[in-house]
Amino acid sequence: MATFLHSEYPHLMRTQLFINGEWVDGSKTTPVYDPSDLSVIADVALAADIHCEAALAAADAASASWAATAPRVRSEILRKAFEIMTAEADYLAELVSKENGKALPDAKGEVIYAAEFFRWFAEEAVRTPGDFRKSPSGDKRILVTHQPIGLSLLITPWNFPAAMATRKIGPAIAAGCTMILKPAGETPLTALAIADILQRAGVPKGVVNVILPEKTGPAISAMLHDPRLKNLSFTGSTEVGRILLREASDRVIRCSMELGGNAPFVVLDDANIDEAVKGLMLAKMRNGGAACTAANRVYVQRPIAAEFTKKFSAAMTAFVMGRGRDEGIQLGASVSVKERNKIAELVDQSVASGGKVITGGTLPEGPGAFYPATVIEVAADNPILNHEVFGPVAPVVTFDTDEEGITLANSTDYGLISYVYSEDLKRALRMAEAIESGMVAINRGVISDPAAPFGGVKQSGLGREGGFDGIHEFLETKYIGVEI
Ligand code: NAD
Repeated sequence: MATFLHSEYPHLMRTQLFINGEWVDGSKTTPVYDPSDLSVIADVALAADIHCEAALAAADAASASWAATAPRVRSEILRKAFEIMTAEADYLAELVSKENGKALPDAKGEVIYAAEFFRWFAEEAVRTPGDFRKSPSGDKRILVTHQPIGLSLLITPWNFPAAMATRKIGPAIAAGCTMILKPAGETPLTALAIADILQRAGVPKGVVNVILPEKTGPAISAMLHDPRLKNLSFTGSTEVGRILLREASDRVIRCSMELGGNAPFVVLDDANIDEAVKGLMLAKMRNGGAACTAANRVYVQRPIAAEFTKKFSAAMTAFVMGRGRDEGIQLGASVSVKERNKIAELVDQSVASGGKVITGGTLPEGPGAFYPATVIEVAADNPILNHEVFGPVAPVVTFDTDEEGITLANSTDYGLISYVYSEDLKRALRMAEAIESGMVAINRGVISDPAAPFGGVKQSGLGREGGFDGIHEFLETKYIGVEI
């Protein structure tokens, strides 16, 4: 494992803007911090209006020729990017851990997962389906084809800086769209490193551009009002998603929205308790709990509640917290002190409303954005259950009947993912069908897979990423009717 990126892998430590295939300085720079000790890792270029305009102009100029490229060419560029990213996974994981704070095993897992989007969409690029039919009346032929939607704006969050970028870049390249990627201000280095990988994989100039605007809101608003922009693919909070949907409505821009989650983890009384604890540790603690898929509300049926909570709390207490890149660390820092303090406030509020802390629940001494693995026993109306905690905190609620479990699981505005544990598949399936979420995991703690459609219902989003659906977020369907 490399110890420091600057010296060994300088090309993965990009700090300039990536516009029209070139690395350029911005108007000024902004520091990127290591949240485990708040030291500055690098100063990254910020884009002024002229740089945003240059990115738009470059992506627009490249659009027609890129759309006309043979699918096989796009496929092979993605395949090459997959190979480079996989070969450099250790270095990239170190960078992810450094700017995001997450534990190195989580960072490595993310990079491998992220690279898989390039591989999956390399395979999808050459398989865009079409259709040729007789109309039912026989009067014409119905041709259905798909065309790249065009210049796309990709906006990503800080919690999976690699995977959220490749989950958009992969299908955009496969479909033949040009793009501007705007990463989160906390974690731009990973996105810039991925741009470097894509450049080495042979992406033509102007196809992929990465910028970090000086003033995010106004810059993104201006792009959404620019006629050259055709598509928005956003991953982030529901709150920001809502703002962007309003902005995009002025020009009726196509939108794909991967928004917040508040996942229920339902353990029925016939579950294998040890397996359910293992699954919950994954669903809750992967990425330090900073995942839209993180189990956020744990519902356990009464007959097994005491034993389950005891075993789960023991596993949480044993979780090792520290600087993400250090040996044996399982729980790294949150991305910033601001994010960490949000977690602490939610716990304090929960305790003030009657929550009983079983383990964790106090801020550690010393620098860094750390918060410990925490379990709180709460009543079903505790306020923490209405929030996406985005940290290593598990509120546990006891319930009685399956119907009550379903009602509790459905009691939020979110609907991204849910988890059900039961040894009775029929019972688990009935519950999976009744729970309002875009994805349901049965007897598993993680189901994210580039080959599966990822996305939510209710206020968790619009559209799907990955699977066969993902490429369609970057394609328009065209129907051609032919007289016969
Ligand atoms: P966020 O909404 O604060 O930021 C997301 C992105 O939007 C960042 O790049 C940010 O700079 C940008 N942004 C913020 N304000 C903006 C504005 N006014 N105009 C344009 N862009 C703006 O989210 P975050 O804190 O970075 O990430 C955490 C959130 O992301 C959580 O709610 C999590 O559930 C969600 N998330 C969802 C998925 C999913 O697939 N559904 C995946 C990962 C994260």
